[in-house]
Amino acid sequence: MPSGDMSRRALLQNAAVLGGVASRPGRLVARVPGVAKTLAAARAEMGAKAIEEVKLTNLITMFSGPGGNVVVRHGDFDKVVVDTFVQGAFPSLKQRLDAMSNAPILYVINTNWLFDHTDNNESFRKAGAEIVAHENTKRRLSESHDLLGMHFDPAPEAALPTQTFTQFRDVKVEVPPGVEEYIDLGYLARAHNDTDIYAHFVMGDVLHLGDTFLNGMYPFIDADMGGSIGGIIAAIEGALKGVNPRTKIVPGHGPVADRTALMRYRDVLVTVRDRVQKLKMAGRGEREAVAAKPTADLDAMWGQGFVQSDEFVSMVYKTL
Ligand SMILES: [Zn+2]
Repeated sequence: MPSGDMSRRALLQNAAVLGGVASRPGRLVARVPGVAKTLAAARAEMGAKAIEEVKLTNLITMFSGPGGNVVVRHGDFDKVVVDTFVQGAFPSLKQRLDAMSNAPILYVINTNWLFDHTDNNESFRKAGAEIVAHENTKRRLSESHDLLGMHFDPAPEAALPTQTFTQFRDVKVEVPPGVEEYIDLGYLARAHNDTDIYAHFVMGDVLHLGDTFLNGMYPFIDADMGGSIGGIIAAIEGALKGVNPRTKIVPGHGPVADRTALMRYRDVLVTVRDRVQKLKMAGRGEREAVAAKPTADLDAMWGQGFVQSDEFVSMVYKTL
């Protein structure tokens, strides 16, 4: 077995524990002033960003810019792509992929349902790829949603995942005889929403954590769609059990990270969770908890991303 295999048991236990938490009917998710805009405007803004390329191993490359981070394994026989950028970025992404080799794109994996990860599913299906995702990603894409000021219509059938799973899935890639490579996919229950998965390229030891991990930023937690601070912490704890100091860890957004960076992120989440928990236990309401500024010492570092400090405290409070 290649080293660096994810700790399935740990992840499974987390999923089981969290599976017992009752789903909470809730208010609409907190509107995040920094990111509230129409879907068209968000697509245009993200799509205008240049694609940057980071080589992670001989065969695995990360692209970043117009949406969530994309990871590509480009072997002699086929390609596997994790996440897809936003619609407008498809031509330039496809050009990059074609420039790597003429091997076909066998699989595209969605780490969660949101448009900055799934927007080009239809184009990739037209290019011949199977789309693999958690079953909830297919369900969420099939529904209409209002989120952060953006309206989502149900996606057309042609943009839906073609293969779904509930807990684990191995995606096998063609390799020369005697070489073993597969991509280990696993569900991260009740994390940033209810559609999150990780994707671990086992031989290359590259782990994509989707939006359960925003490197150097507070994460977005969608309470109305099954997200929770406890689930994100459980996802990260599970990941930390399966990585080693050489594992390349790809966040949903932000630069590629290592185990030390993931531990720092975990520590921040646990610290904020504990502080907000204390306020809630002391009988403070959500507004009072936010006004108490429990993250003041962390905000300069962590509150400069998609989610600002007050919104993050609200999200944590709601999901405790
Ligand atoms: Zn994202």
